[in-house]
Amino acid sequence: MHMRNSKVKISLPDNSGSIEVGSGKFLVVAGPCSIDTRANFLESSRWIKAQGGHALRGAVFKMRTDPKRFQGLGRDGYPILKEIRETLNLPVFTEVVDTRHVEELHPFIDVFQVGARNMYNYELLKELGRQRKPVLLKRAFSATLDEWAGAAEYVLSGGNDNIILCERGTRGFDTHTRNVLDLSSVILMKRRTGLPVLVDPSHGTGRSDLVLPMSLAAAAAGADGLLVEVHADPSKALSDQDQAINLEQFGVLTKKLNQVLSALEKNL
Ligand code: PEP
Ligand code: MN
Repeated sequence: MHMRNSKVKISLPDNSGSIEVGSGKFLVVAGPCSIDTRANFLESSRWIKAQGGHALRGAVFKMRTDPKRFQGLGRDGYPILKEIRETLNLPVFTEVVDTRHVEELHPFIDVFQVGARNMYNYELLKELGRQRKPVLLKRAFSATLDEWAGAAEYVLSGGNDNIILCERGTRGFDTHTRNVLDLSSVILMKRRTGLPVLVDPSHGTGRSDLVLPMSLAAAAAGADGLLVEVHADPSKALSDQDQAINLEQFGVLTKKLNQVLSALEKNL
């Protein structure tokens, strides 16, 4: 089923304009896995903007495999999201893990991120279908393309067609990478749904040294953008340390991406 010939608009925080995803411009969404301190988030966000990044990511609610690990700042993170989003006028993507948070998140964020663990949470998807803000729908670890498309239909059937898909890798048998980044899904899902598809090379590999090459590969494969984990000091990150790139590496990434994109007659 082809949902729509999609370009998804993300409004800028000050409503002065919007970013269009899926229109040929390559979207770079970057930031920490989870927001830890205001200072770290501000530092990385400023740098991301200066390097040409279009939007920020940063979770305040984390779904950790181990319940003893950092679960995110929770509601204490809302003022940080608000301040940095408004100061830099960059749209913010953040994960929503519970239907009870949907309403209250509205003033602080621009895109609702549905994580891999919640791709099958149909009540959450239905609730997001009733919203008008865009939804970034990540592929579950073991989701088939049919299941992933079905999840997108749940959002769509509620009336929200502002859906962006995100390939983040599926489980493999080898332990050298965290997941196996499936770039063919980008092409197949774009063809099948018409929706824009981003690639997350951070969760897709679990290794900071693979983020650059897989980002370039994603651009070359026709992805509409990247969701990438960047931290001011990855060794101090409270989640996903091994896959976060530092600020300097993000600078190199945007430079090289521009080279690949210009060969494809696209740009950042
Ligand atoms: C994330 O983006 O930080 C995240 C938790 O990713 P995923 O839901 O793909 O595991
Ligand atoms: Mn993460």
